[in-house]
Amino acid sequence: MATSGNFVLPVSETLQPLAENSIPFYRFNLLSRFSELEHIVFTRQGGVSLPPFASLNVSYDTGDETWRVRENLHRIRNATDCSSFIYARQSHSSNLVVLSQYPHFDPRVNYPLHGKDGFFSHLPGLLMMIKVADCQAIVLYDPTKKVAGIIHAGWRGSVKNIVGKAIQLMVAQYNSKPSDIIAGVGPSLGPCCSEFRNWQEGLPAKFSRFQVASNHFDFWAITQLQLIEAGVMRENIEISGLCTKCHPEVFYSYRGEGKTGRFAVAIGIKD
Ligand SMILES: [Zn+2]
Repeated sequence: MATSGNFVLPVSETLQPLAENSIPFYRFNLLSRFSELEHIVFTRQGGVSLPPFASLNVSYDTGDETWRVRENLHRIRNATDCSSFIYARQSHSSNLVVLSQYPHFDPRVNYPLHGKDGFFSHLPGLLMMIKVADCQAIVLYDPTKKVAGIIHAGWRGSVKNIVGKAIQLMVAQYNSKPSDIIAGVGPSLGPCCSEFRNWQEGLPAKFSRFQVASNHFDFWAITQLQLIEAGVMRENIEISGLCTKCHPEVFYSYRGEGKTGRFAVAIGIKD
């Protein structure tokens, strides 16, 4: 365990535990090299929500009080060096959005976007956030083209290869070279806890090589392979290695808790 101020966070091989203004968070080692880039893996600590959502819940769809979620989102943005903010009601789709203009949305509306599971932008100051509790938030950065992206990948996203589509989009839209792209896979269900009882119906046959025990699959390894198949270099992929269900004091876990919150992972070019 590593101590960040008053917080005790589990140690990851790749994530650095940090804290600022009473909000603990992590950063990926590979992405911390780029001073122009903001990226933060938040935890469930440092917010105002009460159990079972305690405390930094960023989802309006969990049953939490709206004002608490709004305050938590305010804290998230204030913890970063970005002045603009975008997130969506996610839908386990492979719908990706290129943000080439700063979004304007009614602050009384809970979600600026609906049905989107990935964002990409080159715009300085635009923080892009994904909400998770067991699913993977995957951050992407092309330091040559100065383009950042983030996607949400649960098992449905893995089946749809949303991460491969994300790399293809960066190539098509920004002329990125896959070998330049750095990827970070956030805390999510590890092979220890990724039980999938109906795998014969739900998962493609090619995932069987990632079956680590009866009904258990290594979705971290699946994401790594999908990134490599899309042209990302193995040494440019950082997997946090932290399982959400194994660390309920630090992360929300839908599998572990059922009624619970969602924690935030965010990326963007600094203002
Ligand atoms: Zn686990």
